[in-house]
Amino acid sequence: MPLPMFIDSHCHLERHTFADELDGVIERAFAAELSHMVAVGASRVAEGATEAIALAERVANIYATAGIHPHDAGKATDADLSAIAVAARGAKVVSVGEIGLDYHYDFAPKDVQRNVFVRQIAIAHDVDKPIMLHVREAHEDAWQVLDDAGMPRAGGIVHCFTAGPREAEEYLKRGMHLSIPGVVTFPKSVELQEAVKMIPLERMLIETDTPYLAPVPFRGKRNEPAYVVHTAAKIAELRGSTQAAIGEATRRNALAIFRIGA
Ligand SMILES: [Zn+2]
Ligand SMILES: [Zn+2]
Repeated sequence: MPLPMFIDSHCHLERHTFADELDGVIERAFAAELSHMVAVGASRVAEGATEAIALAERVANIYATAGIHPHDAGKATDADLSAIAVAARGAKVVSVGEIGLDYHYDFAPKDVQRNVFVRQIAIAHDVDKPIMLHVREAHEDAWQVLDDAGMPRAGGIVHCFTAGPREAEEYLKRGMHLSIPGVVTFPKSVELQEAVKMIPLERMLIETDTPYLAPVPFRGKRNEPAYVVHTAAKIAELRGSTQAAIGEATRRNALAIFRIGA
C-alpha cells in the first residue's frame, strides 16, 4: 500500500447529492491515496453542519466544518448562529466555515452578508479555530471585514481561491492559507495559475469543492474527493515540482492548520 499523500480540504459530502453512492465516493477517495477529507457543513443555513458532523463522527478520517454560507445569510436567525457557535466546539469540527461574502449571486443583501460574516469570525475567535472563507467578487470588502474583526489566532483558509497574484498577496499578508481548487486545471485560468506559482508552498492547500468544479479530465462531471490528485498534478507542473511533493506539502499544511492528529 502506498502511503497516503493527499487531503481534500473542502468537499460537500451530502446525502442529497450522492444518495446511496456516498460510501462508494468515500471509499474511492481513500483508495486514491487521500488520508483525510474535510466535509464542509455550511448549507441549508445551520442544518448542513449537523450532517457534516454526523459524517465525521461515523468515518474516522473525515473532519467537519460548521458555518453559515453567505448565500444563506439572509435566512440566518440568531438561533442559527447560536447553533453554529455550539457546533463549532465539536471535537471533529476543525474550522468555522464556509463563511464570507458572495456578491456574484447576491442571494442576501451585502450588509446582511457582512453582519453574518462578522458574527462567525467572532465564533472562530471564541472557539480558537481557523475560519474557512468563501469570497466571490467581494475581495476588497472581505479584507476590510478581516481587518476590522481581526484574524483569529488559529488563522484561516480562503477556500476555492481562483483569483490572481494581487489578491493572493493580500490574503497572505493577513496570514491566511489559500486552498486551490480544480479550476487551476482549466486552460483559461491564467491569473490563478500565475498565483499558484507565487504562493509559498507552506501556505497552500488543495481541495475539490465536491460536487462542483471537477478538474480536467473530469471537467463538467460531478466532482468527488478522489479527483484532488489531478489538482496536485497541475500545481506540480506549474511549479516544476512533483505530484507527490505537492500532495505531501499541502497535506502537512492541512494537518497543521486544522490541528488534525495534534
Ligand atoms: Zn464556497
Ligand atoms: Zn464549498
